[in-house]
Amino acid sequence: MKSFIKKAGAAAAVIALTATTLVSASLSFPAEAIAAKEQVYSGKAPKYIFMFIGDGMSYPQVTSAMDYLGVMSGTGKVESKDLTFTAFPVVGSAQTFDSSSFAPDSASTATSLATGKKTLSGVINMDETKTVKYETIAEKLKNQLGYKVGVVSSVNINHATPAAYYAHQASRGNYYEIGLELTESKFDYFAGGDFLSRTGKNKDLKDIYEVAKEKGYTVINTAEEFKSFNDKSKKLIAITPTPADADSMSYAIDRKAGEISLADYTKKGIELLDNSKGFFLMVESGKIDWTCHANDAATSVKETIDFDESIEAAVDFYNKHPEETLILVTGDHETGGMTIGYSGTGYSTYLDLLARQKISFKEYDKKIAEFRENKASFENVMEDIRINFGLTLNTSPESANTKKELILTDYEVERLKTAYNQSMLDVSEREVNPYDSLYSEYEPLSVTITHILNNKAGIGWTSWWHTGLPVPVYAMGAGQNLFSGFYDNTDVFVNLKALTKVN
Ligand SMILES: [Zn+2]
Repeated sequence: MKSFIKKAGAAAAVIALTATTLVSASLSFPAEAIAAKEQVYSGKAPKYIFMFIGDGMSYPQVTSAMDYLGVMSGTGKVESKDLTFTAFPVVGSAQTFDSSSFAPDSASTATSLATGKKTLSGVINMDETKTVKYETIAEKLKNQLGYKVGVVSSVNINHATPAAYYAHQASRGNYYEIGLELTESKFDYFAGGDFLSRTGKNKDLKDIYEVAKEKGYTVINTAEEFKSFNDKSKKLIAITPTPADADSMSYAIDRKAGEISLADYTKKGIELLDNSKGFFLMVESGKIDWTCHANDAATSVKETIDFDESIEAAVDFYNKHPEETLILVTGDHETGGMTIGYSGTGYSTYLDLLARQKISFKEYDKKIAEFRENKASFENVMEDIRINFGLTLNTSPESANTKKELILTDYEVERLKTAYNQSMLDVSEREVNPYDSLYSEYEPLSVTITHILNNKAGIGWTSWWHTGLPVPVYAMGAGQNLFSGFYDNTDVFVNLKALTKVN
């Protein structure tokens, strides 16, 4: 997307090494692998480390965003445009399976990235017996090298991925306990979505905000406080002033002018963490996963492009400190079984159709609740669907001026009618079958609209859950070459440990 990335600095360039011959050893012999990697990396430890994690972001999520940008550039050619991070000089692939499954969850995969250990789905930084705790790379850098540490997420700040940098819990669902661990982490900067379960499951425990203040944190949740905050001597927890679904940050596609973005939180993190000893900043785009669970490609594409803007902020910093900075961008697993190519469109794709979508599936759920309330007719709802998604009945007056791919077939109209009928019912009256139903736990009409629009665009989905696709690992800066090749997600930790020489 941007072409301002300077070529990797000399420190990074001198370590053209044989990483690919070493990585396979790390699965069974991590200690030897780390020693071997330390030997081949003779540069200084990267002083500024960025770890960007797109939750649910694998090759299809990245590539669909690149292809969308290419199509929307308007040349009429089949072309794909780089995002900032896809232009990084090094890329590798990481396998993501955990101790439970080849379709792993975010707790175990983030544990692998943060500690180099495999564990069960749902477990955060503990072993398979749920008795042994693992120290994370962020804790090591803080405790041993005095790095400042920041953790940013577009979802709840005590959700699985951010938690995997500071918490140690047998279950990712222990939100209150994870929140307590956050306040005990001594990390310097937290920002993003609000805490889940701030006062415990039964709402009878001390508010995490209060606990955090007692531990010396400043807790803010207004835009004014956030913009003016610049005291580097204080530890900050910045909560989104505009909580969206489940108190996460808004999807990029829905964000209003003036709302704080993930890039804003990233920039503030860089500002506050920058110091002579160094820093580690983890930034998660957590809702690529949420929208791919719901099989909404337009929202995924916009979310991935938005994630790239936060990475641009890190690249700006890298350009000032190219010898001492390392930026990593990866995913934790793939979500949705997204494909570019769909049986219904043969070898053709029409990704520009995704631009017709104006609103996320989640925001559209709210509109559907209003339709249900007002007992809106199918025809009225279809007119709203035309405005927000472009999908048009062939009987509508607008159909003559609509791109032919957006005109609904009889079969698609039938699917929408069935989903509309379901969505007009109370949730308790609907048929539910979480594993193979047409709609999973989602609003039937919302996900039917996005399925139809996506399929018309040439995008397919196979799951409401995670899949076993490997994830790309993009790297730029000091130590970048360790991240080339095909390896296990635990190697991301192994490499960081080797580069920084922490114990
Ligand atoms: Zn997920």
